[in-house]
Amino acid sequence: MADPGTVLVLGGTAEGRELADALLARGAEVVSSLAGRVPDPRLPGGEVRIGGFGGADGLAEYLTAHGISTVVDATHPFAAQITRNAAEACAAAGVDLLVLRRPAWTAVSGDRWQHVPDLLGAASALKAFDAESTVFLTTGRQGVKAFRDLPHHFWLRAVHVPDAADLPLRCDVVLDRGPFTLDGERDLLRRKGIDVLVTKNSGGPMTAAKLTAANQLGLPVVMVDRPPLPDGLTTADSVSTALLALGRSQRDVPAGKGPEQPC
Ligand code: NAP
Repeated sequence: MADPGTVLVLGGTAEGRELADALLARGAEVVSSLAGRVPDPRLPGGEVRIGGFGGADGLAEYLTAHGISTVVDATHPFAAQITRNAAEACAAAGVDLLVLRRPAWTAVSGDRWQHVPDLLGAASALKAFDAESTVFLTTGRQGVKAFRDLPHHFWLRAVHVPDAADLPLRCDVVLDRGPFTLDGERDLLRRKGIDVLVTKNSGGPMTAAKLTAANQLGLPVVMVDRPPLPDGLTTADSVSTALLALGRSQRDVPAGKGPEQPC
């Protein structure tokens, strides 16, 4: 691999950890950055810094002060603010930026998906369901407030305990962290008497089994679509394509496309 210089990996995802570990194994200088939202984050190898940078300006200053030559934004597809900040900061500091985003899930035959643009849209979509319906909410603890005033019975699955003040009146919390299996998800949907599933379109295999389970049980899914990426960014859809892109000048990769062939 050509030397991409010191790489800052904006993480908080499995891909961010895998990429940092793979770059380290190739002898690259890597710093991983986490937002610090969770008390027990899974850490990649190598140097890790935790906490915000102070907006796009703060990130640009960090890049210059730490001699960063490449940023990989491997944050979650719904972490839209840090992605905007990274685009602005890299442009200001003259640093290469690659966005690593796993592909979104796409519907297959038999899926009953209703697409909504955001969590408020999901809450609105639930109003069409009977107040006695049971909802399986897998959008995480952040943003659960959007559902607070709904009358339905919720099963909220999250990695950490949410703030009780944010929860809907009738809400049970299941604390769990993927990967989840198809048998497990089907069993859970049946046991809890779920009528409708609400999910973000996070993509990736770790939490996809619930969609297959919902399909098999004929359940409707309220699918929160991803926020759009800022225009003109170079993207890779897997750790391996990101590694290929980092192996040559980022500017050689066409905007909006990951490399398809090793070169
Ligand atoms: P966000 O709304 O896009 O970002 C809000 C602020 O958090 C940013 O402006 C930045 O603060 C700080 N931040 C976010 N990611 C950071 C990182 N990797 N390193 C340093 N600072 C970071 O982000 P979010 O949706 O709250 O997500 C926070 C983190 O959780 C992300 O790293 C993401 O990968 C992970 N995550 C998010 C979700 C989700 O559904 N949103 C799901 C799983 C994991 P400053 O402006 O001060 O720099």
